[in-house]
Amino acid sequence: MNNIFIPQFTITDIQLGVGDHEFNKALTLFNKGAVNEIKKDFLGFNAIVSGTHEYHVNVDCSSYDRGNCDCYIGQKDEPCKHMLALAIALVYK
Ligand SMILES: [Zn+2]
Repeated sequence: MNNIFIPQFTITDIQLGVGDHEFNKALTLFNKGAVNEIKKDFLGFNAIVSGTHEYHVNVDCSSYDRGNCDCYIGQKDEPCKHMLALAIALVYK
């Protein structure tokens, strides 16, 4: 059985998948310490990501672009920089 708490993606996957522009925005958030209170949940991980507001974000460990965020991009079912910042945090820790 796979451990669902081990991310099945790498930094390179994220960078190539979303492009440098989106990746760098997410990396900046992560480097600022914007990803906090990372906790396991039933699909992967959730966290609070601080940006313009504080966003509740979750990311599935099977794929960095599967998850949810409170922001308007996350609501459209697209990977936003908050989800990507959490995904980066998961592979760096
Ligand atoms: Zn978001």
